[in-house]
Amino acid sequence: MSDCLFCRIIAGEIPATLVHQDERLVVVKDLNPQAPLHVLILPRRHIATLNDLTPDDDALVGSMFRRAAALAKDHGYHERGYRTVFNVNREAGQSVFHIHLHLLAGRALTWPPG
Ligand code: 5GP
Ligand code: ZN
Repeated sequence: MSDCLFCRIIAGEIPATLVHQDERLVVVKDLNPQAPLHVLILPRRHIATLNDLTPDDDALVGSMFRRAAALAKDHGYHERGYRTVFNVNREAGQSVFHIHLHLLAGRALTWPPG
């Protein structure tokens, strides 16, 4: 999808700070970080929202959460704590329609979220 911001980042057409990549996932720093660690875990394949997942995507989504846990550990936040978030559609504030798992850590994160 050439009009998708995250597809363009994954293709290297738009610069981003790369944190990790493998055959299924690309992880970049968020451009507007909301915590000392704020990265976006992106599947290489375009999927617009969580509503579009199928059973065939179960392993992919599992790998996104396992990557979040591994990155939290790499950055020393696995015991202090961290948050993972998928925003879905308008009321949750989804602004880029290519699924992405936010990983936030490094400060006390309040609950409930805004
Ligand atoms: P959403 O609001 O869809 O859950 O999250 C989109 C995220 O993408 C936001 O946290 C926003 O800061 C981030 N973002 C928007 N444009 C860019 C960009 O060009 N590069 C990077 N690395 N992040 C971006
Ligand atoms: Zn995309």
